[in-house]
Amino acid sequence: MSYDPDNIFAKILRGEAPAHRVFEDEQTLAFMDVMPAAPGHTLVIPKIEAIDLFDMTDEALAATWSTVRRVGAAVKKAFGAEGIRTFQLSGAAAGQTVFHYHAHVLPWGEGVQNASHGGQMADPDVLSHHAKQIIAALT
Ligand code: 5GP
Repeated sequence: MSYDPDNIFAKILRGEAPAHRVFEDEQTLAFMDVMPAAPGHTLVIPKIEAIDLFDMTDEALAATWSTVRRVGAAVKKAFGAEGIRTFQLSGAAAGQTVFHYHAHVLPWGEGVQNASHGGQMADPDVLSHHAKQIIAALT
């Protein structure tokens, strides 16, 4: 399988598709998952063209997971969560559905709403509100 430059996350990176962005630096972008498994579900992607874990450079991996830590701290704070659950799926057989590498970040613990992977399409206003909460917790 070769990298498809028209996958939805590539389009989000190029600004050709909308997303509720919460953080961006030279190497990574973080935005709200449009079908959140729980409120606050955020995705972190590298800016390089990489399909999955095995396609990633060490540098892009370090940058992506550094952003996961940074955004994870903000998600935890913004949603008053006890912990953070992070995961990454590589390969269709593992459940990967978008073939641009991404890490999932979810608030977790007592008092926060937990669900399984893949929820329903969220109300854009709710996603926008959640993005603002995370951005506020980042600063
Ligand atoms: P995967 O199953 O590949 O690990 O996760 C893909 C994730 O991308 C899913 O949680 C899904 O809800 C999310 N997703 C799919 N399409 C879009 C989209 O157009 N925008 C955003 N923000 N998230 C998406």
